[in-house]
Amino acid sequence: MKKPVIDQDLCLHCGTCCFICPKVFSQKQPGSVPSVQEMDDYSAFAPQIEQAINACPGVAISWESGDDGSEKSV
Ligand code: SF4
Repeated sequence: MKKPVIDQDLCLHCGTCCFICPKVFSQKQPGSVPSVQEMDDYSAFAPQIEQAINACPGVAISWESGDDGSEKSV
């Protein structure tokens, strides 16, 4: 299972990812680094997550490889 991760050093706190995919990304407070919702399987949200990855102005979102060894660099 692969999981989206946010690089806190690159995040610009714009909230775009939360707007595109609120089920996965959420900001506890406006202007904070969003948190990634823990899920067993992100595949249902993969299109929106990919969209958030492409839209992120800080290029802060990427896929982290999971237990199955699958990996995708962005
Ligand atoms: S879209 Fe990118 S820069 Fe904006 S809040 Fe999300 S992770 Fe941070």
